[in-house]
Amino acid sequence: MIRIAIANQKGGVGKTTTAINVATALAATGWKTLLIDLDPQGNASTGIGITAAERERSTYDILVDGMSLAECIIPTRIPNLSIVPATVDLSGAEVELVGVEGRTDRLRRALSEDTGHEICFIDCPPSLGLLTLNALAAADTLLVPLQCEFFALEGLSQLLQTVERVQQRFNPQLGIIGIALTMYDRRNRLTDQVADDVRSCLRELVFDATIPRNVRLSEAPSHGLPALVYDHTCAGSRAYMALARELIGRLPAQRKAA
Ligand code: ADP
Ligand code: MG
Repeated sequence: MIRIAIANQKGGVGKTTTAINVATALAATGWKTLLIDLDPQGNASTGIGITAAERERSTYDILVDGMSLAECIIPTRIPNLSIVPATVDLSGAEVELVGVEGRTDRLRRALSEDTGHEICFIDCPPSLGLLTLNALAAADTLLVPLQCEFFALEGLSQLLQTVERVQQRFNPQLGIIGIALTMYDRRNRLTDQVADDVRSCLRELVFDATIPRNVRLSEAPSHGLPALVYDHTCAGSRAYMALARELIGRLPAQRKAA
């Protein structure tokens, strides 16, 4: 199973929207896909239509109680797409795991189990705490959604320092599969400028597909559906399909690199 963490310590940059829609696009292409909700807010779980009653087992059980992956996976309404949902008790995991041996290794151990999935996406919380460290330690590679706004590059350099530390300490194989520019607004000169700066600075690392600011993307979660299912023709869905195609194109090289 290829493991991709979707991380950026800033909130509201499009991590969850990217996780849901890229996972859905891969599932639609026939990949047996798993989504892991590692954010105590549980937005990926809600956004894909998993009710609170369905969250009997969650990522908390994996991280804190050492439950197996297979015990915590539930299907979604999307064919080929399963999820390990998150519940609010996950917010306590950071504290409960302090002093536990191998506390950064809990998710990696669980994900080493073969559950028949070919790819998994880990939707990270907006911090660089223990939950995100678990994701980075478990992942083969990282996908970074970057909002086209003024401090985007500063935030990114902090994230890249963390990636370097994780590579040195727990996961030398960790790669970066790409940076996805999100909430792009063509009419706003600042976002245009930021997108240009990020591209000239980071070049091939940045996916060609740019995710526009699109109201359909923000409406879909309240219907418990990925935008790709809610309205597959909207500009946001088309952009996510293009991103997923590029991602698939980068996977073999990633595998070789690992
Ligand atoms: P994160 O997981 O990084 O906190 P989200 O994916 O939850 O970010 O996005 C934050 C908010 O912005 C959500 O309400 C989401 O629906 C909305 N959103 C995300 N991407 C877009 C977009 N491209 N256009 C418009 N709204 C978006
Ligand atoms: Mg989120």
